[in-house]
Order: sequence, then structure tokens, then C-alpha cells
Amino acid sequence: MGIIGREALFVILQPAKNLVFFKFLTQSISFYKMFRRVKVRIYQAILSVLLLFGFSFAEVKITTTIKPLADIVKEVGKDKVDVAYIIPSNVNFHTYEYKPLDIKKVYESDLFVFIGYGEPSISSLTKNLKKEKLMQITNLKGMVLLKEEDHDEIHPAVWLDPENAKLIAKAVMDFLASKDKQNAQFYKSNYLEFEKKVNEILNYGKSKLSSVRNKYFVSYHYEFPYFVKRFNLIYLAEIEMGHGREPSPKHLIEVIQKIKKYNVKAIFTSKQFFNPKTANIVISQTGAKVIFLDSMGETGDYLNMMRYNIDKVYEGLNL
Ligand SMILES: [Zn+2]
Repeated sequence: MGIIGREALFVILQPAKNLVFFKFLTQSISFYKMFRRVKVRIYQAILSVLLLFGFSFAEVKITTTIKPLADIVKEVGKDKVDVAYIIPSNVNFHTYEYKPLDIKKVYESDLFVFIGYGEPSISSLTKNLKKEKLMQITNLKGMVLLKEEDHDEIHPAVWLDPENAKLIAKAVMDFLASKDKQNAQFYKSNYLEFEKKVNEILNYGKSKLSSVRNKYFVSYHYEFPYFVKRFNLIYLAEIEMGHGREPSPKHLIEVIQKIKKYNVKAIFTSKQFFNPKTANIVISQTGAKVIFLDSMGETGDYLNMMRYNIDKVYEGLNL
């Protein structure tokens, strides 16, 4: 059959085919609707049985601004707490813009955990929230707090000091134990287990990083002061000036001179705070290598993230 013939046949057959398909479609839709009604009834039945016998799903809901905080909350709450975070872990959290859905998430939570620095102002999220539903981690007693490199504000990346992570977990435990009293023991033992693992990570990092060839630490953004201090390294320089500000030529020259003077071979950064254009100027002048760390929990839970960072810093400082 020629091309024209085949097309003619197609035109003739098409309406018939369409009709069959239409019938099939309407039947499918009504079957689906019926099925859905039945399904909803089954769900309702299951739900009322569960409620009758006192079963419960995660009763407490906690929302945090960033993922590492949510990871710490999860260590304590496990399956008894519904944990969410607002700011995606792959973006620069300083410049995130809250969405209407974020406000809803926070509003529906029993507790909202946030840093209090570095995030965009949370006032739009918490306008109608009672004080007891808010936990600002930089206000927790005993937290190690460091300043920004160029001004007096508190540096937000407090969770990169594992000692701080323990304090955050403990505050979450206290909250959960009073909110959900019948599971208080569960939260306490989860906390103790986490504390033990954090201590192991601290020991792992301290012993590993005490033997590096070069203790001088250079980063792209001033992002890791808590990590550097906890593991007894020395913060030598950062390429970026403040938050996202392009470095001046004078600043770049100073950084390059320091890198050469202290024989630094690695520039540490996270991918969320990195501008390859500026970094390349320093790299071309010094031969240093860029090493990516994880400050936002993209490599896993809190403990995995910390172990990853310790291993990567060890690698970079031994180049
Ligand atoms: Zn920052």
C-alpha cells in the first residue's frame, strides 16, 4: 500500500478506534471513582479502629529551618516525631525566600527550631506563634558561639561543632519529654545514644586531625569557624569577604600571599557557597586544590556529615 493509501485507511478507521477508546475511558473512570469511594471508606474504617484502640501516628511535629537541625531532632524523636525542614539543603540558606507553604508548616508544628542568625528573618513565619513553640538554638545555655569574621554578629554555623549538636539534641529531648510524657524514657535513651555517637565522632576527629601536615585552614566563604576551633586547626583566610561580597583585589592578593607563606594546598568550601570564577584566580596563583565539604547534611545524617567533613579536611590538610 502506498503512503496515500495508508493515510486514507487511517482516517477511515480512526473514528471507530476513538469510540472504542472513549468507551473504555469512561468505564475506567467510573470504576476508578467507585474504587476510590470504597478505598476512602476502608481507610476511614481502619482509622477509627486504630483510634478506638489508642494507636497513634507520630503525634509531635517539629519543623526546623535547615536540614542538619532536622537531622539532630530525628536522632532524638525517631519514629515518634514528624520532622521537617524548610530550606532545601542545596541552596545558600542566607538568601532563601520563605514560601507561603513554609508558614503553614511552621504554624502546624509543635516546635519550630531555628538558628536565629544567618537565616532570612523568621518573623514572617512566627508572627502568630506562641513563644513556647519557638526554639532559637543560639539562645540555648552552654552553646559555643563565635563571631563572624568581619563584624560582631554571631556566626550561624553552630551545628558544625559537635559539642553544640549535643546541646541542641538535649534541648529537643527536654521539649519532647514534657510534650509527650508517656514516651519520655524513649527520648532520653535516644538522646543518650546520640550523645555517645557524637562523642565518638569528636574523638575520631580530634585524633585524626591532630596529625595533619598543615593546620592552616583556608575556605572560600567564612563557613567553618566552629569546626576549625573544635578540632584545633587555625583559620588562616577566606576568599569571599562577608556574605557573598566579591573580594577586592587587595584582599585577594593578601589571601594569595598567606596561602604561599603557609604552604596551604587546599581551599575548603561547600558547593552552596562557592563562586568558581573568584576561586580560580587564587587557584591559578597558588596551585591549591578545591575540596568540597558538607555543611548542610547532603552526605547523610548528622554523624555521617561530620565524619565526611573530618575525612575531607584530613585529606586536604595532608596534600
Ligand atoms: Zn555564612
